[in-house]
This record gives sequence, C-alpha cells and structure tokens, in this order.
Amino acid sequence: MKRYAIVCAALILAAACSRQEDKPAAPAAQAVAERQPPLASLPKIDGGAILERIKVISADEFEGRAPGSKGEELTVKYLEEEFKKIGLKPGNTDGTYVQNVPLVGITGSNTQPLTIAKGAQKQTFKWSDEVVAWSKHVADSAAIKDSEVIFAGYGVTAPEFDWDDFKGVDIKGKTIIVLVNDPQVPEASDPAKLDPKVFNGKAMTYYGRWTYKFEEGARRGAAGILIVHEEGPAGYPFQVVQGNLREKFDLVTPDKNMGRASIEGWITLEAAKKILKTAGQDFDALKKQSLTREFKPVPLGLSASMAIGNKMRTLDSRNVLGKVEGNDPNLREEYVVYTAHWDHLGVGAPVKGDKIYNGALDNASGVASLIEIARAFMSVEPRPKRSVLFLMVTAEEQGLLGSQHYSVTPVYPLDKTLANINVDGVNQWGRTKDITVVGMGASDLDDVLRDAAKEQGRTLRPDPEPEKGFYYRSDHFNFAKQGVPALYVDTGVEYVGKPPEYSQQKRDEYTNVDYHQPSDEVKPDWDLSGAVEDAELLFAVGFRVASAARFPEWKAGNEFKAKREGMLKKSR
Ligand SMILES: [Zn+2]
Repeated sequence: MKRYAIVCAALILAAACSRQEDKPAAPAAQAVAERQPPLASLPKIDGGAILERIKVISADEFEGRAPGSKGEELTVKYLEEEFKKIGLKPGNTDGTYVQNVPLVGITGSNTQPLTIAKGAQKQTFKWSDEVVAWSKHVADSAAIKDSEVIFAGYGVTAPEFDWDDFKGVDIKGKTIIVLVNDPQVPEASDPAKLDPKVFNGKAMTYYGRWTYKFEEGARRGAAGILIVHEEGPAGYPFQVVQGNLREKFDLVTPDKNMGRASIEGWITLEAAKKILKTAGQDFDALKKQSLTREFKPVPLGLSASMAIGNKMRTLDSRNVLGKVEGNDPNLREEYVVYTAHWDHLGVGAPVKGDKIYNGALDNASGVASLIEIARAFMSVEPRPKRSVLFLMVTAEEQGLLGSQHYSVTPVYPLDKTLANINVDGVNQWGRTKDITVVGMGASDLDDVLRDAAKEQGRTLRPDPEPEKGFYYRSDHFNFAKQGVPALYVDTGVEYVGKPPEYSQQKRDEYTNVDYHQPSDEVKPDWDLSGAVEDAELLFAVGFRVASAARFPEWKAGNEFKAKREGMLKKSR
C-alpha cells in the first residue's frame, strides 16, 4: 500500500481541498446502478469480525507474510479454510482456491560501481548513496560497458498527447538518463497552472510512473536506464528508492527478462547534476527544454560502465481465489473481481528490536474486509445475477506481481470481467463523512459509488494529490492497464466528531511511524466503524455492478478506454 505523504498541509490548503466539488452522475451512468435494492436493505458488515481476522493474519506467527515463506503457507491455508467456511466456491476452474504465480527473487550487488567517463577522465558514483540499480535479467550478472550516455528528457512517447521525447534517435545499447514523472507543461494563458490538455495537467498519467520509463526504454533497446530522483515529482524520498536494494521479485517470463534493459535504476539529483556538468550541460536548462514538444535527446559525450551480480531463487507463490456464483444462468460467466493483496514485507531489519513486518493495516486489513464482504454476498437473497470473484493476490509489495500475473493470465476472460474493486488498507480511525476516490472521474464506477455513498449520507472526495499517481500504485492498476474499469478508494478526511486537522494528524502518524515498518500492528485505539461503512459501500457497489443492465465504462478521455473498447469489440 502507498500512503499520501501530505494531504492538505495547512488549514488554508485544507479549505481549498474541501472546495474541490464532486460532479453529479451523468444520466447514462446512473443506468449502471438502476433498480437495485437500497443499501440499507443489504446485509451489514461486522467490524468485530474484520478486526479478529486482521489479528490472525498479522500475528507474529505469520512472519509478515512474505511470498515463499512459512507466512505464505499459513496465509494461504487460512484463506482457503475461511473461503470454504463461508461457502465460496473454488475460484480457479481447476477446482482449487489457488492460482500459482511463478516468481524469481533476485538480490543484486554492485560488482563494479557506476563509472562515467569523458575520455580519460572518470567519475565513480556510490552504490546506494548515489545510485540504486538492479538488473531484472534472470542471469548471474549484468553490465553496461562504455555505453554512450544520452539525456532523453522524460523518456515518454505518448501519441494521444502528440509527444515524443525520442524523435527517432536510436538508443539501442545506450544508456539513457530520464526525468521522473510526466512533463509538467504550463498553461499558455496562465503559466502558474499546468496545461490540463497535456498529460492531464497536475494529475500523473501512467507516462509519469517509473515502471513506464523502464518499459519504454526497453522497447527501444536501451542497455541502461537511469531515472533522476527528485523528491517532489517522485512523491517520496530517496530512502524509498533504496528499498529496491533488498531482494526483488519478478514474474518468470519465457525470455528470462532479457527484453529488459541490462541495468535499471535511479540516481540522486546531485549525481545527475554532476554528470550533466561534466558533459558541459546544466540540469535546469535541460529540464526546461524537456518541457517542450521540440525537445530532442541530447548526446552527452560520456560513456557509462557498471556491473551487477545477481543472486537468484525461484519460488511458486499463490493468488488465492474464491467465488460467489451469480444466479442468472446467462450472466453467471461474467465477473466482478474484488482484490486485496495478502502479502507484506516479511522479516527484515529490526526496528526497536522487532524484525517482523506484520502489515496489519497493509494489507491484512484489506484481506479481512474482503472476507467479510464475501460473507455478506453469501447471505444476500437473491444473489446478484453475475458472479463475484474474491482474489487475494500475492507480491503486491514486490511490484504488483500477483495481480499482474492474473491480469495477463486471467482465470476468467477480461472481456467478461465488468470491474475490479481493490482494497489496500482500511480506515482505522473512525467514521468519516466522505470517502476519497483515487483517480476520481476515471469510470462509471464512481457514479455507482456516489449513489451508494449518498444513501449513507456521505460524499465522494477526489484524491487530493493526483500528481503522485496513486492510481498506478496498487493492484487495481493491472486491471486498468488491461482495460478493465477499476475502482480504488481511500479513507475519507472529514472525521465525525473530530476537528478538521485530525485526519492529517493520523495520516502523518501512520506514514512517519508505521508505514512499511514492524510497528504496522493492530493498535488498541483502532476504531473500525469507518472501515465498516466503507466495506458496506464497496459491497453495495460490487453488488449493483454484478446485477446491472450494462457494463460500466471508462469516462471519455481516459487513457485505458481505447484498450477496453478494442477488447469488447473483438469479443462481440
Ligand atoms: Zn505496502
């Protein structure tokens, strides 16, 4: 799970945030939810049961639920047993509750530091402090040697925005240095604002995600890809990047990931400035050029060398899945898919003597909440027309791998999959008058959610930091990337009976103290009454979509709409 670092830091900003108003549903979209039982008539969710389940799978015995560990064995066993107990049918067509996810774990070490040469003049950069890099090649070693260095702007090719940073320049075998995020292009009439027509203005598009930069560089045959870390546009400090130095997992692909660049990684802003200075270039000037469509890659007259040694192990991890069968024989083969990742970080560096990263909130809480939603589906009469799949995915913390595996090797065809609803962390601080929609305005699912929230007397609130690209950072994104409309909500910010600063205070507390730390444990002061309301809301949304007259759609202008329409056209 990824958390907001800052929501609305000052009261002035908080006021500005709360003025961001939610748009009413378009009439066509309302059809998705029409003629459905009122939320109040649906089964209730039991907060006590959610808490008990969180306690079970976040207990020390589960060792922080790392893929491939004893914690995985216990978690998978628990999920299978609970699915059976509540009456879910096996989610896999082979009659089991699991989908195998073959993973390779790679621990890299720097066998030769990053060295930038200008003729005979050489500069080396410190591993971890200045350079964090790895190789996804399933091989004992990987290297770049005297590889020509090119500054490639944002490293983006985006036809829908008429943008191409590469301009046909051949980068095969070369090393590119690229900027993080997508181009932040100012509006011509008001340069204080970002142009909403270019990369959706302030909001991050997928072109801004670091994973995209490595994918695009690899498509073009780059040998090395180094992203310049800038804290603001990245959304997190360099320490988070350094987390990549522990064992990294990947799906095992037929080409052993040889289609990826030999070396992928990050350099600090200071290191980037140094390298560019050696080339007689200025970082700020190049960054400015990179904000125009006229930008062309800049050969730096430098060469880069670096080597990485890989220690590897392969392991089979598992997604766990169970289903509620729809009651309409004609629609039963169509699915709404709920996801929550069961994995967390396992056992790691001790903090205050504790080395078990329990991941109670991240994401034992999401798993627990989905089991209770599944139980509600089993007790509702009549059942929805379509089937509902509960998919607990592995290896989210390793780069959304379990959900990626499902999305490229789905058990049920994606053109028969109406929607994905993902839960990554629940609200542990009490009831809220609102609920945050990450990537609000993406699809019709927002309208179904809005109607249901209204029945609870609650409102939707847009993600206050769309620039940080949270929509691309949890498991629903893999569904979106393949075209399936996906809904991802986060805790609201207006707490019932609490002062306005309460939400920010609690978030900061969690982000600074517990996020991805051994102290992410069940706390005595947790109040899951808000989590219960959120779960009832997400239950209602899934229930309504599963019985609706038509499939939900992406809104016009969404980057995944074309993919969905192409998929549905082929199948109909
Ligand atoms: Zn996490």
